[in-house]
Parts: sequence; structure tokens; C-alpha cells
Amino acid sequence: MRLQAIKQVTGTITVLTGLHIGAGKDSLEIGGLDQPIIKNPLTGEPYIPGSSIKGKMRSLLEISKFSNQRQKTRDFVLKGKPCACAEKDCPVCTIFGTSAAEKGPDLGPTRLIVRDAYLTEEWRKKFSNGELLMEIKYENTIDRVRGVADHPRPLERVPAGVAFTFHLSFKIFEDDDPKLIDDVFRGLRLIELDALGGNSSRGCGQVRFDELRCEQEKVDLLKYTL
Ligand SMILES: [Zn+2]
Repeated sequence: MRLQAIKQVTGTITVLTGLHIGAGKDSLEIGGLDQPIIKNPLTGEPYIPGSSIKGKMRSLLEISKFSNQRQKTRDFVLKGKPCACAEKDCPVCTIFGTSAAEKGPDLGPTRLIVRDAYLTEEWRKKFSNGELLMEIKYENTIDRVRGVADHPRPLERVPAGVAFTFHLSFKIFEDDDPKLIDDVFRGLRLIELDALGGNSSRGCGQVRFDELRCEQEKVDLLKYTL
């Protein structure tokens, strides 16, 4: 198995509707929001973990194209699990990897790395000048009996319009199908059609990938469908 290329895909991610990627309970601030977003601990800047982007690409591809093509992938999806068939011809296991214990001898290293996405230079400047404030959305659940809002939970979001840099790296081995990287672009298009982060069913997390390039070549995500 010989590595032939490591393609670099770059661009920006623009937030179209408030983005909430939760920080988890460990970072809960006393007296702070109960649903904070993830931030760089050194600068306080919001960012999008590469694992959030990669995980979303994977799950959307698994429930669409790969479930249609592969019974084994569909079986995992029906159990609510990521595909771990580790078969040589499984695009999802090849692109996204499986846990080391299940890794097939022929599969080789995970092809895709998605970097953490940080604020673009423009938005980083605005953030450091205090011109970029996070948005707080109050999420109510309605008490059906009394007809009043119960427990308003403040939800922190990156506001619409903010842009992050985007960067992924994709390894190509000599025996790989040259069309394998198309499924990566398909995964990005599916995120545009779906959403990133939490509370997407309430309208959060619509994003757009702009200025996408693979090496020097322009990538048009509109070419890619389910
Ligand atoms: Zn698989």
C-alpha cells in the first residue's frame, strides 16, 4: 500500500443560521449559561471542532448513499451505530476509519482528516475588538396544561454571517478508487442541506462552504447530491 497523494481542500464555512456546538458539561461556568458553545480556552474565540464536521459528514453519508449501496452499512445504521464492517470495498470505513480493533488488514489508514475550523482573519479581528458577540437564544418548552413557557434555557450561538476557515486533508493510496474523494464533497454538500451542531430541528446550524478548492482546482458542491 503506497501513498500517492495527500490532497488539501480549503475554503470557508459561513454560518447562515445561529450555530450551537455545545461545549459539554465539563466547561460549565458557575452562574453562566447552561448551554455554552465550545471556545478556544486561551482566546475565548468560538471554533468548530473538525470532529463535529467529520462526524456529521459520516452520519449523513451513512444514512443516504451508503445505506442504499451496502446492506452491512444499513445494518449498522439501523442499530444507530457508525459502520464498522472494515471491508476493503466499504467507502465509509475507508474514508472515515473504524476503531483500531476492527480495522481490516487491507483498509489502511483513515483517509480523511478534518482540521478544527477557526474564525477567519476578518472575524478574528472583529472578535478581538469586541465587535463579535455571541447570541443568546431562549429555548422554551411549553407547559401544555398551563399554556405557559417552562424553564427557559439560554442557548448560546455563533450569530449568522460569521465565517470560519475550513481545511481538510485526504490521503490517496495507489489502489484507491480515484472517485473516493467525491464522497467527501458529497458529505460537505449534505451538511449544507442539513445542519451542523445542536438544535438543528429548531433551525440552528445551517452553513455554507465558500471558496472551496482542492489543491488549486475550484470545487462546485452543487454537483453533488444524495
Ligand atoms: Zn463499513
